[in-house]
Amino acid sequence: MIPQNFEYSRPTTLAEALTLVSAGAKPLAGGMSLIPLMKLRLAAPEQIVDIGRIAELSYIRETDAAIAIGATSTHYDVESSSLIRAKCPLLAETAAHIGDVQVRNRGTIGGSIAHADPAADYPAALLALETKVRIVGAEGERTIAFDDFLLDTFATALEPGEIIREVIVPAEDSATGTSYQKVVQPASGFAIVGIAVRIRKMEGKIAMARIGVTGLAAKAYRAVAAEQALEGTSGGAAELQHAAAELIAGVDANSDLFASAEYRKHLARVYTLRALAVALSRAA
Ligand code: FAD
Repeated sequence: MIPQNFEYSRPTTLAEALTLVSAGAKPLAGGMSLIPLMKLRLAAPEQIVDIGRIAELSYIRETDAAIAIGATSTHYDVESSSLIRAKCPLLAETAAHIGDVQVRNRGTIGGSIAHADPAADYPAALLALETKVRIVGAEGERTIAFDDFLLDTFATALEPGEIIREVIVPAEDSATGTSYQKVVQPASGFAIVGIAVRIRKMEGKIAMARIGVTGLAAKAYRAVAAEQALEGTSGGAAELQHAAAELIAGVDANSDLFASAEYRKHLARVYTLRALAVALSRAA
């Protein structure tokens, strides 16, 4: 279908984009989610502001034991960045799982988290990484935890007039092992279930465990009970099984054509065990 008519602007500075967005224009980044919605007439913005050519939103740089990733960095930028591969490999691994080559070359990290699809890949990793999101608006800027940013299915803490400027992830050391394991929805590439694990081992014990889950429920979540079940243990088989059971306990799982709620939970348990095994093997 053809989208409804709209006004199109393509500013080259963030300040110009903010002026337009605070007047009601809708940001367009890679267009991988917004354009299909417009073609289906599920979205009909009257004014579009294309932020894809704003140089000050596209960067990946290291700052104070963290990596700042500009909102319009594409999934390919993240997947192929030598800095992210070396210091935050979980994010590069996750980006490589998104869609196909075309989607990864157009889609952006800011667009993905703003869209908040419950089956998107990034949220699992961003939760496990305890990511911060830097947001700018006409009133100034604020930084919030990604856990607080993600509110519900297709719902975030972004206020009207705001633009995501960057996401900030930790620069990891070699004691941290990570893994993203995903069951792929064969038609779209989205996650039926995706599990991101980040583990730090010290003196043979799991000193820190962070687990993000996507695809399983209405929104991606951190599996805090599973994390607590792991911390302080040596990560033996029974302990991993216990954590995987905690991850799905009491979850109101999604059910659709591809996987019933019960099957999704089964997949989540199995893929948690796989992600834990890989992350533990990578924690030096
Ligand atoms: P756009 O489509 O341009 O925008 C999406 C939304 O975000 C809009 O509401 C827009 O206004 C808003 N927005 C964009 N940037 C900002 C910003 N900086 N600040 C505030 N709001 C902003 N995703 C996965 O995770 N896994 C997959 O396997 C996967 N497979 C896909 C397969 C196909 C065929 C397609 C078309 C998409 C797939 N996607 C998948 C989605 C893809 O990752 C999109 O890139 C992503 O959801 C949206 O990013 P975008 O840059 O294209 O955003």
